[in-house]
Amino acid sequence: MADTIFRRIIDGEVPCHKVYEDDKVLAFLDINPLSRGHTLVIPKEPAETLDQLSDESAAALGRVLPRICRAVIAATGVREYNVLENNGRGAHQAIPHVHFHIIPKPDREQGLGIGWPAKSLDAEEGRKLAEQIRAALT
Ligand code: AMP
Repeated sequence: MADTIFRRIIDGEVPCHKVYEDDKVLAFLDINPLSRGHTLVIPKEPAETLDQLSDESAAALGRVLPRICRAVIAATGVREYNVLENNGRGAHQAIPHVHFHIIPKPDREQGLGIGWPAKSLDAEEGRKLAEQIRAALT
């Protein structure tokens, strides 16, 4: 089991501002918030990236995420927000334990800023790629 800061928070060795806990999920305030109410929702299972997470932990996270989003909206009064989940160092994941960020977006300056370098999807490439992903899912 990797000894990350989140593992130590789950084990109660490191304090946090807890907002939610059940047998599979813990949620607490981010220590360096991008905006007021920035909350982290993590599985207790020590998976590094989302693709490594069990269906049981994924279901537990999915069940409570919208509820925690509603609570963050209610507490901050901010209705717009981003949910972010980074996987791997190159994709900005600093802590190798799955975590969903809930980041209120009160205005243009605060909250998450996103670069979105979109391109056009070629029809033939799209057909092939969708086929490959469908095949990998079976
Ligand atoms: P990421 O870049 O997606 O791995 O995000 C890691 C997040 O964990 C950052 O937003 C940090 O501010 C946050 N973080 C790191 N240590 C703590 C801690 N002890 N308590 C709460 N949040 C933390």
